[in-house]
Amino acid sequence: MKVPISSMLAALAALMLAGCYAVPVTGRHAVNLVDDKEVTKMSISMFDDMKRQYKISKDRAMNESLRRVGDRISKVVFWDMPDADWEFVVFDVPQINAFAMAGGKVGVFSGLFKIARNDDQLASVIAHEIAHVTAKHVHEKLSQEMAVSTIGAVGMIGGMASGASLLTVDALSQAYGITTSVGGLAFDRRKEKEADYIGLMYMARAGYNPEEAVKVLEALDGESANDPTPPAILSTHPSNPERILQLLDAMPKALEERARSGMISAPVILK
Ligand SMILES: [Zn+2]
Repeated sequence: MKVPISSMLAALAALMLAGCYAVPVTGRHAVNLVDDKEVTKMSISMFDDMKRQYKISKDRAMNESLRRVGDRISKVVFWDMPDADWEFVVFDVPQINAFAMAGGKVGVFSGLFKIARNDDQLASVIAHEIAHVTAKHVHEKLSQEMAVSTIGAVGMIGGMASGASLLTVDALSQAYGITTSVGGLAFDRRKEKEADYIGLMYMARAGYNPEEAVKVLEALDGESANDPTPPAILSTHPSNPERILQLLDAMPKALEERARSGMISAPVILK
């Protein structure tokens, strides 16, 4: 079917009017075509499913560490997620992985504590995951897919309705990178680097030492070098020198943010 240019332009215009938001911290403008409330609703129910599916860890040190870190980071991001009903859960799963979802649902697999050795390091992972949420990377990813399928297949504004059906539980869990079949990258490199940058500022504002974020990326690289099956988090969060360099570039600003935060406390070392 040949799509008339005029209807393609109309579809494009509709996309642009649909919803634009500014990403916190970076101020980048992005397009959102998905229903915020729907994403949050689906995220909460996915999180509830996970709590039923996986064993929840009773490890005291891990749970307390996550509670301390979650408490401080969630205060820092309050204005970016004012409606969040925060929940921080350690799942008893040996994989090195963590995720955050719309609505303030954060899950950490117990395996993550192999590389997150203190509160600062855990904070860097949690802040990165929460940055994906405040930046609405899942919304943006689904919106990009919708835009492609709408203009490509239909080329009419009426096609927007069919685009909306792309917001499914499968698409959402894939976008979050928490499907059991680990296929493909959750986010492109640009979104990863943006989450790194925003996360670095969040952890610093919460009083954590941003320099520990670099150690986490290095530890992840070490894990993948020693292990024939690389950590799950690397399939969605590929580590590379580029990411570390960007963190180092942003370090002076992050250290300034930390000095201003007034939340600095003695580091807590996990066993
Ligand atoms: Zn990420």
